[in-house]
Amino acid sequence: MQKKVVVFSQIDSAFLAQLQEQFAVTVIQPKLGDVNAQLREAVVDADGLIGAGRILNEENLSTAQQLKIISTVSVGYDNYDLNYLNKKGIWLAHTPHVLTETTADLAFTLLMSAARQVPYLDQWTKQGQWTRTVGTAQFGLDVYGKTLGIIGLGHIGAAIARRGHYGFNMRIQYTGRKPKPEVATAFNAKFCDLDELLQSSDYVVLAVDLNDQTKGMIGAEQLGLLQPHAVLVNISRGAVIDEAALVEALKARQFFAAGLDVYQKEPLKESPLFELENVVTLPHIGSATSATRHAMMKLAYDQLIDALEGRTPRYLVNQHF
Ligand code: NDP
Repeated sequence: MQKKVVVFSQIDSAFLAQLQEQFAVTVIQPKLGDVNAQLREAVVDADGLIGAGRILNEENLSTAQQLKIISTVSVGYDNYDLNYLNKKGIWLAHTPHVLTETTADLAFTLLMSAARQVPYLDQWTKQGQWTRTVGTAQFGLDVYGKTLGIIGLGHIGAAIARRGHYGFNMRIQYTGRKPKPEVATAFNAKFCDLDELLQSSDYVVLAVDLNDQTKGMIGAEQLGLLQPHAVLVNISRGAVIDEAALVEALKARQFFAAGLDVYQKEPLKESPLFELENVVTLPHIGSATSATRHAMMKLAYDQLIDALEGRTPRYLVNQHF
């Protein structure tokens, strides 16, 4: 019997067509109304799910009778209830590596944009305010030779460290659950605790995954440790920072600026952040280049096919139930 696949977010039309050639495919369509109700109905006889950006848990998966795999087109998997998937023996595959360099590029884009006030000065120039030589309000911060603190020296964190070390001659320090000499030695990176990193870095970049320990790890107290000239960049997940505390700290100009790609609630449609000049806001585009999104989609597609054809996908989050 033909297997069934549920596509739970918008995906590349070429991959959708390939899926439709091989499987019975149901595409979840938010414009048709209640997405959870659509999911509950669609997953009943589904063998595989593919997509990204949707919370999948017992509420919308409990009707599934034969679900083998969810293939997420993302490296982060905080949208998925792993305990539930483990209990049900449902594989979750994700897409590490293929987006590492692109996301590290974006972290550096945010870092430099915040340091040199790029969005503010872009608007300032376009508004015709450049009537004479710029003054101190338009001055930014040096990046070259400064101290870069990375919270979470994983794949992306290491790629950011490499840019800082080789490209900008920065001193690299990092914090995490344990020292990682096998990665850190290449960048001469120093391991320190979170407080020390916040107090002594010129640039702080968050590159952790979202989990019980990292949720809310940067609150008012931690923001208070940043130096007045520091720049904070978050490309990980919004919930890692207490956003209300961040807004207050930025309003009070406790530190120089922030560069954000991720938020507690996405999409970010209204926010006090929009009123602030010392924050650069991007719409969760860490991996969003054509080539990288294509590579992620291909990897997610291949892993879905692997599972449906009886092979073990390469990047499983939860292999052992
Ligand atoms: P990795 O798993 O390679 O890296 C995550 C790092 O976070 C690991 O080094 C891990 O440490 C560390 N970490 C986990 N918990 C803690 C903790 N409590 N304290 C300190 N460090 C901790 O993943 P990637 O580098 O590939 O991706 C990281 C995250 O970036 C993703 O999970 C995703 O949320 C986000 N992301 C965002 C994108 C965007 O578009 N903005 C694009 C891609 C990813 P350990 O080595 O000890 O496990």
